[in-house]
Amino acid sequence: MSAQQPPILDHEVTIRNYLQLLARYERLMEISRQLNSTLDLGTLLNRIIKAAVELTDTESASIMLIDPRTGELRFEAALKMSPGAMEALVVPMEGSLAGWVVTHGEPVLVEDTHNEPRWFKNVDDTTGSSTRNLLGVPMIAHSKTIGVVEALNKRNNAPWTEDDVNTLTTLAAQAAIAIENARLFQQSDFISEMVHELRTPLAALKASASLLMRPDLPEHRRKQIVQTMESETDRLTRMTTDFLDLARLESGRTRLETSVFNLNELLLESVDVVRNQAADRHVTISISCDPTLQLEADRGKIKQVLLNLLTNGIKYNKEQGAIFITVTPPNGQDGMVRVEVRDTGRGISPENQKHMFEKFYRVADTAGYTQGTGLGLVIAKRIVEAHGGEMGMESELGVGTAFHFTVPAAPAD
Ligand code: ADP
Repeated sequence: MSAQQPPILDHEVTIRNYLQLLARYERLMEISRQLNSTLDLGTLLNRIIKAAVELTDTESASIMLIDPRTGELRFEAALKMSPGAMEALVVPMEGSLAGWVVTHGEPVLVEDTHNEPRWFKNVDDTTGSSTRNLLGVPMIAHSKTIGVVEALNKRNNAPWTEDDVNTLTTLAAQAAIAIENARLFQQSDFISEMVHELRTPLAALKASASLLMRPDLPEHRRKQIVQTMESETDRLTRMTTDFLDLARLESGRTRLETSVFNLNELLLESVDVVRNQAADRHVTISISCDPTLQLEADRGKIKQVLLNLLTNGIKYNKEQGAIFITVTPPNGQDGMVRVEVRDTGRGISPENQKHMFEKFYRVADTAGYTQGTGLGLVIAKRIVEAHGGEMGMESELGVGTAFHFTVPAAPAD
């Protein structure tokens, strides 16, 4: 007979559990200190999922955040998911566990996903992974739910415990505050960039004003200086409008005023606005659009997108160039119309293309001879995305550039 193990006394179990728990909380404190040491959102999100996996002893974890612009729930970080797959997936508020966690503001523990009607299977289908069980907790910052952290598949099929729920809930609360701080930091970054951008026209105005005070100034110089002052003031006005537009779009304070309207009419109207500007450079504009096509969108905002693309198509075109607007009606289930604005301009190098939708980015050699804020395309893209559409571009140096975007068609009836 083998030697009998001494029986484990109840209080020993309790002490062992207690020590384990203590170690877990110490680790949690350490992690939350680490979370607060970065203001970079990407780094932060990765640290959170790694911490979630470690603390709950699971195989994987993911974070979904509510997009402040569209209100949609989207994957922001996941251990086993490519950025492309994450971007393509919108998690429905109804018919998903994460959506349930957001709307109820409570954790959800699912021991067997296959017997759970709220389980949103699409994620596994897209990623090729297999989720057996999961724990989802809300991320709440300043009494507002901003997203969900999910820990997936307990290692070795161990049972979930109450401690798992408590630990992940505490982690999610710390993480939510850290995410809010990182977002605020991003905004303050925008403000400092903005102030920096305002300095240039302000300096030009100040210099012009000093020059005008000189008594010996010939009349023709005086006129030139006044013209500079006028155009710098225009630039300041455009910048402030752009800043405000973008700040509103980014903070999610922009409400879309959606209506059903005719796209071809809107195109004609937009071309009319830029007609003189195009004539000055002898640029022709042609439209190819089904005249019956109706959109369901914010008409004013889509006009803003079109005007931005058209003015760029004129500004960065060659003399006597052309612009072609081509509209493709919806061809699939998604019900999106594709609008393309193609020009015969100077084109954009592959290196510059990478930065095209970044705030304040202007191709160096265009910055000198045309006016702009470097915000127009960012604003256009945000508007398109707020409609659930996408914006992209193709370009070839010396040949031209085509910007395209998608926007919802009006339902058939
Ligand atoms: P802005 O025109 O006010 O500078 P945008 O965000 O609209 O700002 O455009 C950013 C930059 O992209 C421009 O400064 C220009 O260098 C480049 N760009 C935009 N559209 C075109 C185009 N159609 N052809 C060539 N370059 C373009």
